[in-house]
Amino acid sequence: MRIVFEKTSYTYMENTPLEKRALHEVSTTFPSGEIIAVIGRTGSGKSTLVQHINGLLRPSQGKVTIGERTVDPKTKKKQIQKLRENVGMVFQYPEHQLFEETVEKDIIFGPLNAGTSEQQIKKQVPMLIQRVGLDESLLHQSPFHLSGGQMRRAAIAGVLAMNPQVLILDEPTASLDPKGKQEIIELLKEWHEEKRLTIIIVTHDMEEVADIASRAVVMHDGRIAMEGHAQEIFEQQGRLEALGLDLPPRLKVLSYISVKTGVPFSSWSLSPEK
Ligand code: ADP
Repeated sequence: MRIVFEKTSYTYMENTPLEKRALHEVSTTFPSGEIIAVIGRTGSGKSTLVQHINGLLRPSQGKVTIGERTVDPKTKKKQIQKLRENVGMVFQYPEHQLFEETVEKDIIFGPLNAGTSEQQIKKQVPMLIQRVGLDESLLHQSPFHLSGGQMRRAAIAGVLAMNPQVLILDEPTASLDPKGKQEIIELLKEWHEEKRLTIIIVTHDMEEVADIASRAVVMHDGRIAMEGHAQEIFEQQGRLEALGLDLPPRLKVLSYISVKTGVPFSSWSLSPEK
């Protein structure tokens, strides 16, 4: 599914003394089937931007088109809810989206709510938990007894169970150890390869961007400051630094060589050593 922002603005607590304009006339297109990284400093508007894609937020001005559906300031809540059938979101704090008595109930919650029979969706549970790397023995435990990494995997399984056409992940690997991070990234790559869905990842981890994303969007002060192929973004280190974003040394070297030799990043393996 293609996502198009057209002069989208968003203001929190409009018409109050705490009013905060978090998006300023953002226009951009996320092409269908790509993996797009949204990067930028804390407070630059990344979460606000992506929350427009599943209708958690409705633009104050302008519009957002997700596949066939357009959301503008006048779109009714009921219509927005329909969006969520196709757009899955894994929140920054997975504990906020796990609320059932058992992990299994959490995983099947979405499809059950969307009308899939319990029998049918339960058949898929073993495949899903295997894909996200959780042990079957955890299925009947409370999600609140899981570790942070396991909670994140359970939340991802619950969203994948819906088979979304667009998947949004807000800092999916934050606070995980390098092995846990790599496993989540590999899982997302495999799912993308198989389903060809559009994936949008909010992250501050540049290695992650290099590893998984084909496109990147850099947010700054509620606006899009840079966008394009991830490698082209990395090649503009000066601009990135001016926006408060620093590349890790390995990527600095790669982008330097790339600029000097004219051999694009994409022709090399960017995955960090495992
Ligand atoms: P990011 O995801 O890049 O950290 P956000 O989209 O969360 O940025 O925030 C953009 C701006 O909007 C920030 O200045 C933030 O303080 C403000 N903001 C975010 N959420 C709220 C909210 N619920 N109420 C008021 N201001 C908010």
